[in-house]
This record gives sequence, C-alpha cells and structure tokens, in this order.
Amino acid sequence: MTKPFAIGGSILRVDLTQSTVTIEPTAPLNERFPAGMGVNNWLLLDGTPVGKEPLDPENPLIFTTGTLVGTPTPTACRMTISCKNVMTGGFGSASAGGNFGPELKYAGFDHIVVTGRAQRPVFIDIVDGDVSIVDAADLWGETTWEAEKRLRAKIDRPTLELLSIGPAGENVAASACIMVNRTRAAARCGVGAVMGSKNLKAIAVSGSGALEVADPQGFMDACLDVQRHLMGNETRKNLRKFGTPSSFGGWNDKGSIPVRNFQETQIDAEAANAITTAVKEKRYIEKAFGCFSCPVLCSQFQRVKEGPYAGTRGEKIESQNYWDFGGKLGISDPAAVLALSELCARLGLDNTNATNPIAWAFECFQRGLLSADDADGLNLEWGDVDVVLELLRKIAYREGIGDLLADGSFAAAKKLGRGSERFAIHMKGQDLAEEMRVFKGWALAIAVAERGGTHTQGGPLTERMDLEPELSMERFGIPTAFDSTNYEHKADLVVYYQRFHNLLEITGICFYATYWSGLHTIGPEDVARLYGLATGDKKTAAELMMEGEKVLYLQKAFNMRHTTFDRASDYPPERMMSEPATGPHAGERLDRADWDRLLDQYYDLRGWDRASGKPTAENFRAVGLPELA
Ligand code: SF4
Repeated sequence: MTKPFAIGGSILRVDLTQSTVTIEPTAPLNERFPAGMGVNNWLLLDGTPVGKEPLDPENPLIFTTGTLVGTPTPTACRMTISCKNVMTGGFGSASAGGNFGPELKYAGFDHIVVTGRAQRPVFIDIVDGDVSIVDAADLWGETTWEAEKRLRAKIDRPTLELLSIGPAGENVAASACIMVNRTRAAARCGVGAVMGSKNLKAIAVSGSGALEVADPQGFMDACLDVQRHLMGNETRKNLRKFGTPSSFGGWNDKGSIPVRNFQETQIDAEAANAITTAVKEKRYIEKAFGCFSCPVLCSQFQRVKEGPYAGTRGEKIESQNYWDFGGKLGISDPAAVLALSELCARLGLDNTNATNPIAWAFECFQRGLLSADDADGLNLEWGDVDVVLELLRKIAYREGIGDLLADGSFAAAKKLGRGSERFAIHMKGQDLAEEMRVFKGWALAIAVAERGGTHTQGGPLTERMDLEPELSMERFGIPTAFDSTNYEHKADLVVYYQRFHNLLEITGICFYATYWSGLHTIGPEDVARLYGLATGDKKTAAELMMEGEKVLYLQKAFNMRHTTFDRASDYPPERMMSEPATGPHAGERLDRADWDRLLDQYYDLRGWDRASGKPTAENFRAVGLPELA
C-alpha cells in the first residue's frame, strides 16, 4: 500500500509492562481525525481507562508531531505530548520544538503510544522500524543534560535525537516536564511525572526515511514564498535578535506581569529596567540558533561570564522565564533568572508549575501561614535567589518542604489548609502562568482552556497590538481585536484563536511565526496552501480551521469523561476578580457580571449548554465526530 503524503506512516505502541512493541498504520485514524494532535487526542481518549489516577501504569503517554513536520515548511518542527493531566485529572498536553519531531517522522512514525511500567528504568531506542527497550539503570538519577550526554556517548549515530526526564520526573513531581534536545521543555500537565511513573528515562530516535509530498514543485515554491515573507518581517527580526524576552518590557509596561504570586501586575521600574537592559544589550547572548527548518531563529545560546552566576549556560530562554522568576518570585537580576532556568532544565522542572507553588509558599510566609520551621529552616523572602535554588532542588527530589510543593500550589494548599487555598493561583487545579486582569480575551482563553490555564490554546495576543480597528474587522470580523480591556466580541476572538492554535498543532508549525505573534506572518490561508500542496488534501483555510475545532472537541470529550468540570470550572481565580491590577491599568480587574456574560457568549457561539458549559450530542455530530455523540 502506498504511504499517504507527508506522514511517517505508522503508530508505534510500546507496552513497558509486557516489554512488547507493536506497529500499526496511521492512515485509518488519519482518515477519521485531524492528523497529529487530533489523532493523539483520540488515542488518549480511547486508551485511557475511566477511574484510574493519572499516574496509573495503564494510562498512555502519547507523542506525536505535526503533518508538515519533516518537510521544508518554515518552522514546522513541533511535537505534542498527551496524557491524563496529573494536576487536573483531565486532558493534558505539552508541546516542544527542536529536532525530535522531524527525526521521528524520518523513522516512519507519527505517534508513539507508551503504556505500562517497566520493572527497571529503561529508555526506548528507535532506529527506523527497529525498536528496542534498553536498560537505563545507569542513567536513573542523572539530570537531563547528563543523561543526554551519556546517551550520545553510548549511541554512535549521526542523526540521533533525544528527549528525557530529570530527577523531577523520576520522583513523579507533577511539576516535572520532558526536555527535548536539552532545553526545549515540553511543559505543563505533569507529562514528565507520567514518563517517570513508567520508569522511562529517555527516548532516542534516528530515521533514514524520506517524506513525499503531493506536489513537490508547488510545495517548494510555497515554502520559499513563506520563507521570503518571514525573512522581511519585523516580528521575525525582533525574535531573531532578542528572542521572546524582547516582549517582557512591553508586557510590564502594560501591567500584565504576575508579580509576587499575582498580588500585583507590574514590577517596579528599577527591576524592570535591570531585565530589559540586559535583554536589549544582548548581554548574555553568544549565538542565535533555531529548531528544524526554522528561519526565525528565536533561540539563543547564553552564557554568564562574571558575577555570582558565572558559568551559567542558557538556551532558549523565554519571556515566560522572566514572568516566572522575575515577576512571580521578585528576582530582578537577569543572570540569576538564567541560573534558575538552567537548574530547571537540568532537573527537568516546568518553570511555571515549579515557581507557582514557591510563590504560594512565599506569600504564605509573608502572611504568617508558613514559618521557617515549616520550610526546613528557610526564610521564604521574595527575591531570595539562594532560597529559590534550594527549593527547586527540594521539589525535584521531594525533600522536606519540596514534597509539599512538588505537585503544585493547589495540591499544596489542600494539604496545608490554614486558609492558604486563597493564595493558590490555578485554573482547574493547574498552576497559572498568566496574569489575567487587564486583557479580557486573553483571560477568557486561559480560563476555558481544556488543559487548565494556558495562553497557547486560544490566547489572543492581538489585544497587545497597536493596530487600526479596520484591520480588526478585516481579519476577524469584529472591531475589538486590538482593544485590551473591552469584553465585547472577545468570545469570537478566542474561538478564532482556539481553532488556529489547534490547526498549528495539527501541522506542527511554530506559533511564533504566525498570526499569533504578528498579523504579517503565517496565517490560515498560508497554512491551507502548504497543507494542500504537501498532503494533496485541498481544504480551504476555513475548512482547516474547523479541523482545529474538532481537536478542541476531542479534548472536551476527554474532560467530560474523566472530570466533573463544568461552568464553575471556567471562572478565574478569585484574586483576578477581587484584587485590582497595578500599573497603567490600576483598578482593572475581571468583573463577575461581565464574566458571566462573556461565558454565555462563548458557549452560545458553539451552541453549548450555558448551565454546564458542555457540548450536546448534536454539537459532536455537527463537527464531524459522531462517534463521540
Ligand atoms: S520560532 Fe523559535 S521556537 Fe519556533 S521553530 Fe523557530 S527557533 Fe523554534
């Protein structure tokens, strides 16, 4: 049988309990569900038994990569990892760039479904269709960087790509991530803990296959058009020079940074200046680099050469690292932020899910709910870098107070009590990365996200763009896409970006090179052109956006089956409603009556039940998922 265009062709199933490997074709599922993340969501829904805890060995951990990944499509490199969410008990997913995704396709695989639990630590080694489960006892206990180094020394293959967990994943901390290529964190939802619970330290892959596309010449022309367009683009130039931290100053100027556990929304001018000056001066940047097939090159090798953090090495530092350490924990020394980020990468900790419980503990200490005795003798003072370094280590190894913090602020507050629940800032149980008070569409997307608090499943960045209302009408059919504090039509904008983000996860194109970051980059029409020429499936942009809608329904179905989430689960943390923002939007907060209306509008746009916030059987049929009705 001829392999369909652009895909690897197979699903790899690895049962670690039985130590068995099976391979099946991807095509039958690709015909029923959107490729990549759509099929991944279905495999998760179909393969997760009801009533099992997230770390139960029977639950699957599923890796996939996008339809266009492995082709020359600019920035198409992304991979998605799905599991039962360790923090919420519902749908979980994490995404990473790098080079693992393309290599997986060249090895002939679109998905890896890992179930069971190995008796001893192992890694999975994939060389084209040849798959082995290999003893990894000697790697257990090692950091992600050391594990990768040792695997590279052991496996002598020029095309080797790796992902791994660190001590945090081994100790099944819900704040553990999976590191791809050392520093690309597939973060959120406890994916690293799920991998650790399976005694799986790493996956290695090498492929020698090729991908065919439907119209090679037309496809190459389209790739070059997109590439040329991106190269001349200001968004790309900025990302190339400074990486995503270039946006930190603007976010702080707008009063949209979580400060000291979200107690305020703007850090003071001196602290902000210390960070933005280092970013503008490119003080620690040694060299830009990028993921597979990416002309944007938003990543940098960074090195601190002097001062207390001399020797620190950073790769792929994001604006979010400065929110997490600079904002939430009050650390204004940019070199310290790099040092803390490096430690998280080595330990395999998700910055956000590790810093939120620390910020919660700091606020509890500030308010006298936790003492130094409760915290292994540590004084939990805002901005104390040494204390944060120690707490990160304790979380990864579940030592002392680290054991309390390892599963996130929601779980920690439940254990501690003493009224500390008010200071656990989370959505649906998962720690929150984002400040929500000022930007209303942004807040809505984060609140309704199926994985629990995320800006990458529908969060519109347009509200931060200084553009004309006419363009808003032209692109989105609403006048308020660039209007930050306005609630009007924001439900429409969120639905648009939910579909678009899911479409990007179907294809594997990086968000940073698209309409998400700037409106003169890759939009749905470009994606449709590339997708059609690569796969031969000539869907319009509107039809492809509806494939993104199906992906969302698959997530919703998972949450309907495994959780009790309802309308009440779509309300932001109380702090966002009762304690106003600081900075230029001082006094701004989310208003309960306006939020009620916004939620009604959001559910109405899809015809969902307003009282429960859930789709009907007819809704599932209408989007083309009759099997879920
Ligand atoms: S824009 Fe940055 S994160 Fe995205 S693919 Fe390029 S280098 Fe990777």
